[in-house]
Amino acid sequence: MPQPQATPPKTWTTRALLAWMKDAFVKADLDSPQLCAEMLVAHVLGCERLKLYTEPDRPASPLERQSLRELTARALKDEPVQYLVGEGWFFSMPFHVDKRVLIPRPATATIVEHVLQHARATPGFGRDGGNDSKAFGAGVLIADVCTGSGCVGVALAKHMPAAHVIATDISPDALEVAKENAERHKVADRMDLLRGHMLDPLDEHPVAKAKGSLHYLVSNPPYIPDDEWDSTDPETAVQANVKGFEPTIALRGGADGLDFVRPLLAEGPVHLRRGGLLLVEVAASRANEAKALAQANPLVEAVTVLKDIEGHPRTIVARRK
Ligand code: GLN
Repeated sequence: MPQPQATPPKTWTTRALLAWMKDAFVKADLDSPQLCAEMLVAHVLGCERLKLYTEPDRPASPLERQSLRELTARALKDEPVQYLVGEGWFFSMPFHVDKRVLIPRPATATIVEHVLQHARATPGFGRDGGNDSKAFGAGVLIADVCTGSGCVGVALAKHMPAAHVIATDISPDALEVAKENAERHKVADRMDLLRGHMLDPLDEHPVAKAKGSLHYLVSNPPYIPDDEWDSTDPETAVQANVKGFEPTIALRGGADGLDFVRPLLAEGPVHLRRGGLLLVEVAASRANEAKALAQANPLVEAVTVLKDIEGHPRTIVARRK
């Protein structure tokens, strides 16, 4: 009697793995399912994401499949893929991230974009080297308060190749990550990484202690208000991957989300030189309140709120008089 033909074993090619993982992530309602699948497969295969598409028929080894099964299971339990692969992207640059720091968000790129635009357009804010792009930022001093992974300060230092950045954080763990990222992007020689609460380290910095020395003071402080942190309404609730895995200290901003924003708006401007900009990221729901706080500070003028990439009011900008 003829034997029924056995189903040939499925070959787990890159293409098949990506499809299987994407499907699992879609069903679990994860954000960016395709990107998450690509990041994990590229990580396990030790290649760039592009290579997944130039060699889609590459069969995975049993060990690679085992790693991917484990990582997929963890991602399905809301562990952020950036932590699983140890890397997150910000301003088209790769940053090392792990559970010691907040994962960089696209919304925060607004700060970097605005500073670069302003610096290009404003005499005395970095264009003194003329058209020599290596001299862009010469003489410019920037403080990045609550730097976390260092993404904002490092991206600014990278794009203003002659600027100097002071980055502060209360967490020594975060500063280690920021240092690693500054070294990775070869800007460590133009960055001072200082440990301390908010603006405090500026008072001990040899240049910034003079007050009125900064061209830019930027910050993405913890700002999630308690009502959003505790919310169970899917519209406002903090996502499980954020709440369960990212450092609470980098996220929660007290009852109204302004515990760190308020002192930055009140005490930040004194550190800026005339015409210098203060940029502070805030919860979209508190943008109006934060704007009013900035407008109440007599040291600044031209207070505006910038929208993030999703169109939410996100960053307060104020100019030192
Ligand atoms: N935007 C982040 C979030 O909602 C919060 C970042 C912050 O508190 N600085 O997940």
